This record gives sequence, structure tokens and C-alpha cells, in this order.
Amino acid sequence: MTVRINDILDEISTYIPDADTRIIEKAYVFSARVHQGQTRLSGEPYLNHPLEVAHLIAQMQLDVTSVTAALLHDTLEDSLTRVEDIKTEFGDEVALVVDGLTKISKINFRSEEEQQAENFRKMILAMSKDLRILLIKLIDRLHNMRTLEYHSRNSQQRIARETLEIYAPLANRLGIHWLQVELEELSLKYLDPQGYNTLKTKLDAIAKEKEEYLKDLMSQIQGKLAEMSLAAEVKGRIKHIYSVYIKLKRQGIPFEDVYDVLGTRILLNTVAECYETLGIIHSIWKPIQARIKDFIAMPKANMYQSLHTTVFGPGGERIEIQIRTREMDYIANEGIAAHWRYKDGSRISDQDGEKLSWLRQLLEWQKELKDPREFLQSVKIDLYPEDVYVFTPKGDVKRFPVGATPLDFAYSVHTQLGNQCTGAKINGKIVPLRYKLNSGDVIEILRSSKQHPSKDWLRIVKTSRAMTKIRAWLRTQENEQSIALGKEILEKKIKGLHLHKDIDYETLARDFSFKNTDSFFASIGFGRLSANQVIHKIAPEEQKKITEVPVKKKKQEASSIIVRGVEDLLVRYARCCRPIPGDKVVGFITRGRGITVHRSNCPYVAEVDVERLVPVEWDIAASENHEIEFSVICEDKPGMLGSITASIGSRNINISKMKAYSNSNGSSICVLRVLVKSLTELDGLFHDIRRLKGVVSIERQ
Ligand code: MN
Repeated sequence: MTVRINDILDEISTYIPDADTRIIEKAYVFSARVHQGQTRLSGEPYLNHPLEVAHLIAQMQLDVTSVTAALLHDTLEDSLTRVEDIKTEFGDEVALVVDGLTKISKINFRSEEEQQAENFRKMILAMSKDLRILLIKLIDRLHNMRTLEYHSRNSQQRIARETLEIYAPLANRLGIHWLQVELEELSLKYLDPQGYNTLKTKLDAIAKEKEEYLKDLMSQIQGKLAEMSLAAEVKGRIKHIYSVYIKLKRQGIPFEDVYDVLGTRILLNTVAECYETLGIIHSIWKPIQARIKDFIAMPKANMYQSLHTTVFGPGGERIEIQIRTREMDYIANEGIAAHWRYKDGSRISDQDGEKLSWLRQLLEWQKELKDPREFLQSVKIDLYPEDVYVFTPKGDVKRFPVGATPLDFAYSVHTQLGNQCTGAKINGKIVPLRYKLNSGDVIEILRSSKQHPSKDWLRIVKTSRAMTKIRAWLRTQENEQSIALGKEILEKKIKGLHLHKDIDYETLARDFSFKNTDSFFASIGFGRLSANQVIHKIAPEEQKKITEVPVKKKKQEASSIIVRGVEDLLVRYARCCRPIPGDKVVGFITRGRGITVHRSNCPYVAEVDVERLVPVEWDIAASENHEIEFSVICEDKPGMLGSITASIGSRNINISKMKAYSNSNGSSICVLRVLVKSLTELDGLFHDIRRLKGVVSIERQ
């Protein structure tokens, strides 16, 4: 049965009784005209698709603008229709939504990862203008998935994969459970038809086999609750096929070993009744302690609230029981769409701004990200939340992905707090930056105005917010260093030429198409522009002389490094990671500056051109001192610094620089530069220092 325009109008009248539906009827006529003569792969008229999408949107009880835009969502694909036409006919709001939807549909996800990242960013940007764009896009995808059978096998696979990787997680993140479940199931059906069918058969069989058992269980619960005068609605449920599929895949277990395929859900009127019910259930059947979850006190990121418990039910069968209010059940299914629902002619007010914050934050952060790959990474992190919950000293709950550290917490409060974070007190005890947060931790951040972010931090943090903020800080910092370095390199070269004229750097920068001298110098500092190119511009003749005369060879800084296949290159150690013999290293060619040796795990290396990396090795014979920097976080007590320097001294290691700060919160931080010969020596030293009483952590810079 195909949907007709009257079905849509009827649907709307159920939740907006006095809706002015003329605009919808007009959109229907407009869409019918544009799509006239077009057919879908199934052979049916194309118009059926926008009608179906608009009907689903009406069933979600969204506003008139959403339904209108849904009818028009594919009209701009036809090059004869322009967004201006939509604007004239239907107004700015509808035009904005339709335009956003068109932009998303033009995005091609088939390409390389980088391209995909950039596309994904465009998609989020388009959606961010209005959440309705995202909601309609998801429903558009749903209808396309429902009619995927008419596509070629190839495009089935592509569309299903894209749905599973992007659209289903988006539906999850927005809390629209029914949509997530259907998108996942449809994707699975096309991606692994055999696995899907086998599993479906087994699940159906179980549902049938346990029908009586479940009925019994439900009436037992109903009876017990009635005795306590609780008016509850008890439902039976079976796990969704995709979640069972994933469970089997991930744990590599046979189907028979998957517990709690069966479950029940109890709906009540108030939160107090929910907790009361939990108590009653536990008095009848023994709970599996580790499986009790309180998502009422600690809602999931997508607003989901419920109590979960798994009990040994009748016959020792494991049963998962979900307990929640009817309101929570509604939100659990509809998610963010519930907040866009219309009731009695007006939109339910968004009582809690927090609920849209995920999308807003994502956009705020993406402004700071230059590289689309960084963006994709942060979206991926945010789309697949595995959460831990921690408390602020005031008792507020904050949510983080599993593996998050005090740094993530600090950055979530304030950028400055993150930048100056030296560690934290968890439940009153000092812990290092690397500490992994556990649910229930009470966390207080320790800070020092002398502290600043380092590249190492990128490996410690888990949230995209923290990563973005650290990268932003490093980028600014790196830029300042590069400007200074570039200026120095260029001035030295110019001095060597003995030119008797003043150089106008501003004109020079403009000659090389730079906006200002800063970006010009920075480019030289980064090695993107070579100083020789610049010299060639200033004095083409002079430069010739220079290249003929070998550059006066300074003491080769890095004499204990062998570069395979290359000799006599200027080799230096990277200041960012300060490698020492024993570290895994890699060389990075900098035009005009030879080779810089980095530790292979230096985050800088991950960001540079692979083509500019060369293999290097330590020359074991050479034994020279290398300066490295590390910081020790310790309790602030007398004698602490003394015992640290003593253990350095006892290993005959020289300290070249030392700074120590104490913080008001009872910890202190010592930053030391020492001269060591190898990683073995350094490891020994760290071992000694770690054993000192009062030392919390050591970080090599
Ligand atoms: Mn469409």
C-alpha cells in the first residue's frame, strides 16, 4: 500500500489539530511536478519515495516545516529546480532544510578515507544548521534501506556499510532507538545475508520455545507488583538481532552461550516506583551483582534512562529486567526527536539545552580542526561511547569514554585547567595524569601555572575535546617556534652573503605569496620553503657562490646516528621528543636543514609526510651524552627534591637544568634536564626515582 498525501494530512491532524496544511499540499503538487516521469529502481513512480519519507516524519510527530521539506527533499537533485524557487514558494525555513538535505546527498562517501572525512565534516556542517535536516536525512536513509532490494549487489553492499558505519551510530547518538535497530538489522541483512538468516531462525525458535516461560514470568512480576499496589505495565522482549550478532562476533562464542536473550521491561509512573520495583524483583530472584546498572541516576549520553538488572529467574535462567518510567521509555525510543515533537500545535519546549549539546560541541570543535582526518577521528570517538561516570567534588556527575584520564576531565571543565593540569586527586589520593578514570571516582584536578601541554598528552587523552585543545595549543606554540627558527635561518644565510643592502621582508613575503612575514618565516622554519629559494630571489648571483662553497661543517650534533644510504648529512635530534640511544627512532628530512631524528612514537612523526621519513639507526659504538627532559610529580614535602637529585647523583648522571614548583593543593612538580647515554641508563634512573616515597609519577617529555 503506497502512501497518499491524505494519509500524511490525517496523521498531522492527530497531533496538530489546527495545522495550516496548505503549504504541505503545495509541496506535494510541486514535488509531483518535479518528479513527473521519474521512476525508482523498483519501477514505481519516484514520488512514492518523498511521500513515504514525509509520512514517516509525520508519524514522528515533527512540525509542518519538516513534513514539507521531506516532500521536497529530492527536488533540487533535478537541476531545473533551484533553491531560490523553493525559497519563493515555501519560505526561507523550508529552503534551508531542503538545501541542507541536497548538500548531504551530493556527498560521495565512496572515496579515500581523507575524502570521506572531509565529506563527513560537510555533512555535519549541513546538518548543524537545523537538526531537522539530520532527522529527515536519517528517515530518507531508512526508506532507501527498506527498498534496497532493487539495487545491484555492489551498491547494496556500499549503502549498507555506509548505513552501518555512519547513519546507525548517528541514530544511536541521537537516542532514536527504533531507527537505530532497524537500520542495523537492514544493513546486516545485506552485508552478511547468511549470518543474518541463521541467527534470525535461531532467535525466532527461542522466542517460540520460551513463550510460555516468559508469560509466566511476566504474570508473576505483575502479581507481585500489584500486591504492593504498583500499577505496572510488564512487557516481554527479545534481544535485537544485530546486538546478538555483534556479541557473538566480539566474544567469539557459540549462540548457545549468549545469555539473557530474553528479557522483560517494566514501565511505571514515577522514579520512586522504579527503585521500589527493583527492590521487589531482587527479593524474588537473586540478582547478578555486576549486572545492576543505574542509568536513571546516570543517564547515557543519548539521554537513555532506565534501571537494568540481570537475575537468576525461575529455573536458573538468566533474565535481564529493565525498569523505567513511561516517560523514560518514550525517550528511550524516540530520543532527540521527542524534543522536536509537536503537541497541541506547538513544539514541546527544549527544557534541557544539554540534550543538544553533543552536536553543538562537535561543531564548535570542528572549527579548530584543520585536518579533516582529525575530525573523523573525533567523530568516531564520539559516536561510539563506552562511558564511565565520575563526580566533581561538588557531586555533579560527568561522563567520559572508557580510558579517559584526569586530563580529559580537566579539559571538559575549562581549557586553561586542562593546559595547566599536573595530575589529580581521586577520592582524596594523588594520581598521575595517565590514571584511567573509573565510574564513581570523585575527582579534583591539580594544577600549576607553570605546567603546559606536551605532545605526550595526545597519547593519554581519550576525548576529542581534550585532543583538539592540546593540538590547538601545540600548533600555536610550534608556530611561534617556527617563526623564530625561520627568521634565524634566513638571517644567517643573508649575513653570509655580505650583502650591503637592507632586506624588505614584507615585500619578500608577498613575493612568495604569504600574507605576512610571520607565515613566511614559519614556512622556512617548518622546512616547507627553503632558505636557498629565498636567497635566489634576493641575489641570484650570490647564491650560486654559496652553494659551491661547502657549508662550514659544524660539529655534527648527532654523531651516534647512522643514516642508511646517506653520508655526511647534517643530523640533529628533535627537540620535541629528545631521542636517546635505545629509543626507536626515525629520521625526518627537512629541506635545507638535513635530517632530524625523532622517536618513532613522537606525535609529530605521525603528522608529517611519509615520503620525508628515512630509516635511521643508532651507532652503538658512539657513546655521547644526550640531554633529555622529564618531570616528576610528587607530594610537596621537605626533602623531596633532595632525594630526587640524590638518586640522580648516585648514578653519576649530570643535571643540566632543574625547576621545581609547588602547588597550593599539596603536590609539586620538578622539571629536570639530565645528560644520559642511553635508554637503559634512563630506565634505571626512572626505576630509582619511582621507588622514592612521595613520588606520584614521572613523565619523559
Ligand atoms: Mn531521498
